[in-house]
Parts: sequence; C-alpha cells; structure tokens
Amino acid sequence: NREIHLASRPEGWPTAENFRLVEVPVPEPGPGQVVVRNRVMSVDPYMRGRMNAGESYIPSFRVGEAMDGGAVGEVVASASPGLAVGDTVLHGLGWREYARLDADKARKVDTTAAPLSAYLGALGMVGLTAYVGLLDIAAMRPRDTVFVSGAAGAVGSIAGQIAKLRGSPRVIGSAGSAAKVEYVTRELGFDAAFNYHDGPVAEQLKAAAPDGIDVYFDNVGGDHLEAAIDSLNLHGRVALCGAISQYNAEEAAPGPRNLFLAVGKRLTLRGFLVGDHADRMPDFVAEVGAWLREGRLRVDETVVEGIENAPEAFLSMLRGANRGKMLVRLA
Ligand code: NDP
Repeated sequence: NREIHLASRPEGWPTAENFRLVEVPVPEPGPGQVVVRNRVMSVDPYMRGRMNAGESYIPSFRVGEAMDGGAVGEVVASASPGLAVGDTVLHGLGWREYARLDADKARKVDTTAAPLSAYLGALGMVGLTAYVGLLDIAAMRPRDTVFVSGAAGAVGSIAGQIAKLRGSPRVIGSAGSAAKVEYVTRELGFDAAFNYHDGPVAEQLKAAAPDGIDVYFDNVGGDHLEAAIDSLNLHGRVALCGAISQYNAEEAAPGPRNLFLAVGKRLTLRGFLVGDHADRMPDFVAEVGAWLREGRLRVDETVVEGIENAPEAFLSMLRGANRGKMLVRLA
C-alpha cells in the first residue's frame, strides 16, 4: 500500500521534491469503517492552495502526512452494515492505494450507469461546478453570448457545452495551445476560441466577440478577467469559479484595472464554491446525465497510470497537459 505525502511546501511552482511516495501497511477497518481499494483518483487545481500553509476555505495539507482528495474505489473490507465488500464508492481519501474511512463518508455509486471516472468528472464535482456556475451564479439566459476560460479543461469544457445546449448563440473559449483551440471549436462545438499565448486576451476576445459578451465563466482570473470586464455588455454577469493564473504566483497580482467599468455597465461578479450547491445535484444529474446518455455532451479525460505518477499528473495538469479531466488510475 503506497500513498503520497506532502514532503515540503512549495514556493511558486511546485516540483516533484514537494511530494514523497511512502509505503504503509494496508489498514484494517475499525467499527463503522470500511477499507477501500482506490481505482481512480482526482488531481485538481484547488489542491495547489492546500499545499500552502495558512487559512483558506479548506484545510491545508500537512507536511509529512498523506494528501487527500476525490477518489473512487472498491470496498475490500467492511465493518459497517451500510456497505458491503465489492461496493464501489466515491470518497475523499485519494492520493493512496488503500483508504480507511468511516462508512458514512463514502457514497455508493452506480457502476452500471457510468464509468467510475465519471463520478470524479462530468457526473461529479466538476460537472456540477460547470452547471451551477453557468446557470445559477452567472444566470445564463438562452440568448447570451458566453465566454469561458480554461475552455479545454475539465470544468471549462463542460461549461461551454452546457452553454450551447442551453441555447447560447455564441460561445467563445480560451486555452493555452493551438491544439486546444482546435479541440474546443471542432470537437466541443464552441463557436470561436483563441490561444491566450498568441496576444493580449482583451484584443483576442474583442475580435472573437465584436458585439460583446453577456456571461463570463472565469477559471483563470488575471488578464482574462480584465479582458472580460472590458467586453461585457450592460448587465453582464461573471461566475468567479477559479483563478488558476494566480495559484503559483509568488506575489499577488494587481486586480482588474478596469473594475470601475462594472459600475456603469451594472455588472455582477459573483464567486461560488460548488460544495455549497449540493441541493442542485438532482437537477444536474437529470439534465447532464441525459445529455451524456444521448451523446450530446462530450467528455474527455487525460489519464495517468499509477500512484507513483500522481504528483507528475498534478504538476502537468497545472502546466496544461490535460484535455478534459486529469485523473490517475491506480493498478
Ligand atoms: P482544468 O482541467 O481546467 O486544468 C487546469 C488548466 O488550467 C490547465 O489544463 C491549463 O490549461 C490551465 N492553466 C494553467 N495555468 C494557466 C494560466 N496561467 N492561464 C490560463 N490557464 C491556465 O482544471 P479544472 O477544470 O479542475 O478547474 C478549472 C478551474 O475551476 C480552476 O480555476 C479551479 O480552481 C476551479 N474550480 C472551482 C470550483 C469551485 O467550486 N469554485 C470547483 C472546481 C474547480 P491551458 O493549457 O489552457 O493553459
């Protein structure tokens, strides 16, 4: 049984040295507990924040201890009447091959309805983030022109597709390579996209949205947010989902210099955390689940094999190596 510990806290960009692979015994379940053999685990941008010391909306990882995060696996030992050996469960103790946890912290998932990995992606936290952010937080309406940053990533690829499925006439994406631009326009149905390395975001966005945008789904922050504020129309709305351009910065970046435009344009900029919106799960599963079954929503994954490669999967996700959700499959 191997697990990944936080070896040290990064300054700026994390490296392989910040992680350590540690061999530990396979645990035994205590009363009310189960032991789960993890099959697939998630690496997510928010984990970068948890590598830092200090208060946040979610506890920091501790140096010298195992990291954690979303995972799906099979119950291999149970001391709880609620779960049986062989059940497949979603839980929060990834970054290890075997997890011991209280049975009430594990949710049984239906392996006939969708592949295991879907519960860490399109049918899980990632899909719900896209759904709630676009429809509730940014209150997207069918005639809205929508801009999504991080468009080829897990959340962004789904947000852009939901915007089309919900009737947006024009969805624009940004991403970090020509191949990703081609992917979101050719394969995901975005109407336009640009590579943010090709030139100032504000200019590229104006060219792609000459009549402005009504909604911005922000995964990136920084210059993307400033560009969106420039291009937003009257009563435009922004879902502040993430700011990945800032996560590895050693100094705080200046805020959008044009924020005052929000006054005259009566803009709404609203942050949210998906964890507060579990009540939307039934609507989300009904609507997004149907699109998936009908083949109207395309979901891609980038899969890395083996717990020993989980740190590299995480680091390469931060660098943009993923298309869709970055996952680690465990042997
Ligand atoms: P992604 O699958 O989008 O992976 C991260 C992507 O970020 C990379 O593929 C890379 O793509 C892009 N990226 C990295 N650095 C930069 C940069 N400097 N500028 C622009 N893009 C960059 O991750 P997720 O879909 O899991 O997460 C997307 C965002 O949503 C994150 O900001 C995350 O924190 C946030 N989030 C928020 C939640 C909430 O509850 N509010 C819940 C879940 C996620 P590229 O090649 O295009 O650069």
